[in-house]
Amino acid sequence: QFEYAPAPESRELASIQASYRLFIGGEFVDPTDGDVGKTVNPATEEVLAEVAEAGAADVDAAVRAARTAYEQVWGPMPGSERAKYLFRIARLIAERSRELAVLESLDNGKPIRESRDVDLPQVAAYFFYYAGWADKLPYAGFGPQPQPLGVAGQVIPWNFPLLMLAWKIAPALACGNTVVLKPAETTPLTALRFAEICQQADLPPGVVNIVTGAGETGAALVGHPGVDKLAFTGSTEVGKQIARRVAGTRKRLTLELGGKAANIVFDDAPVDQAVEGIVNGIFFNQGQVCCAGSRLLVQESVAEPLLAALRRRMATLRVGDPLDKNTDVGAVNSAAQLARITELAQAGAAEGAQPWSPPCQLPERGFWFAPTIFTGVTQAHRIAREEIFGPVLSVLTFRTPAEAVEKANNTPYGLSAGIWSEKGSRILSVADQLRAGVVWANTFNRFDPTSPFGGYRESGYGREGGRHGLEAYLAH
Ligand code: NAD
Repeated sequence: QFEYAPAPESRELASIQASYRLFIGGEFVDPTDGDVGKTVNPATEEVLAEVAEAGAADVDAAVRAARTAYEQVWGPMPGSERAKYLFRIARLIAERSRELAVLESLDNGKPIRESRDVDLPQVAAYFFYYAGWADKLPYAGFGPQPQPLGVAGQVIPWNFPLLMLAWKIAPALACGNTVVLKPAETTPLTALRFAEICQQADLPPGVVNIVTGAGETGAALVGHPGVDKLAFTGSTEVGKQIARRVAGTRKRLTLELGGKAANIVFDDAPVDQAVEGIVNGIFFNQGQVCCAGSRLLVQESVAEPLLAALRRRMATLRVGDPLDKNTDVGAVNSAAQLARITELAQAGAAEGAQPWSPPCQLPERGFWFAPTIFTGVTQAHRIAREEIFGPVLSVLTFRTPAEAVEKANNTPYGLSAGIWSEKGSRILSVADQLRAGVVWANTFNRFDPTSPFGGYRESGYGREGGRHGLEAYLAH
């Protein structure tokens, strides 16, 4: 959709400031009771900028600004007017997508090819899509006068910083809510650039507020009595904490948590296509994807040729500088995440599974993990059960479709799954038996603003995207 200059992408395009403040009531302001943190480039460990950390009083100011904007401006505004602002924001994102993509890759470590060709087009698409809903809500089956909930508190993770923001803010605003959003502490920069875009779009002050900071800032937002709805994407552990805190309050809650998706390859699958899907499923965004295809379940009779083809394909992956347009696999987002991946990979080897990685030269500085597959994995192994959230694939085999379903469902999670087969009847029957919110057939990691996304069980509840995504922001 967009055109770009040749590689490598220039860092200057991101025009990063030395320090960033909070965005409250339409202005960038210093924290009153917070602190100052920093965000680093995970590919180099260089400090990119200092970033304010909002304290409880700052979160309170943001919620009050959101309340005022909700009551006085945004809530009463006709949907057709709200749509104009959302379309304006969507257009500005598309216009500034190159700058935003570079900024995202610098702060997150993801390859520019992904931020440029996947994240940013998707971010714009979600805003365009929900802009289109703003004036059509009375005709969508929510009743003749669908009511917004009020102030939405939104806490998002670092793996798709701007895309998670879009998934949360676009439907909330379309429905007439105002928001206080807290980005992850390791990736705050694109959310703050988005705040500038809100100013540029003349969005009324207080409709969008961005409070940067770590878990304490998120906890202050979760506990604030002025918040009507909470939307959280992140770890299952923090999601459960939030659910406990919200229980018994009047707040509405949606949770998008972890996953341990099975990518199931049957003996009649198109091998080359399946290999591409497996690679995309686990190495896209360095595997730091909640719906990553982190367990490969391959039918025993085709395991050997499929794994040989997978290894050949992995040997062609280019790991390195996220701003280089030829890079396929970038840096892991943080030292903490790298430590988590390393610990689980070591557990995999210690428990008897066999790791394999293609030869690759990892940069000396920064947070890097080579694309890795483990064979000889059993269901008892930690790497078959726990979310790794890194470029590590656990390979298991099966003989019958029933065994594939049993293994795929043998997880506390239930976010996504993939099926590879030429047989339509088999795809439908297996999909029907999988306990996952999203099932892809002969593809993987496909996202679209018109489709609902979300999980069951330990993967959370509620849906984002499509018409379903509006339900979370309406009092119906
Ligand atoms: P995390 O849960 O620690 O952090 C996510 C966000 O919550 C961050 O903004 C963080 O500052 C904030 N936070 C931390 N503690 C908090 C608290 N007590 N109260 C309120 N907010 C708090 O997760 P992480 O380690 O940063 O991210 C990785 C995890 O996120 C993975 O486990 C992954 O599965 C999950 N994730 C899920 C989805 C999904 O859509 N289901 C998407 C992306 C990531």
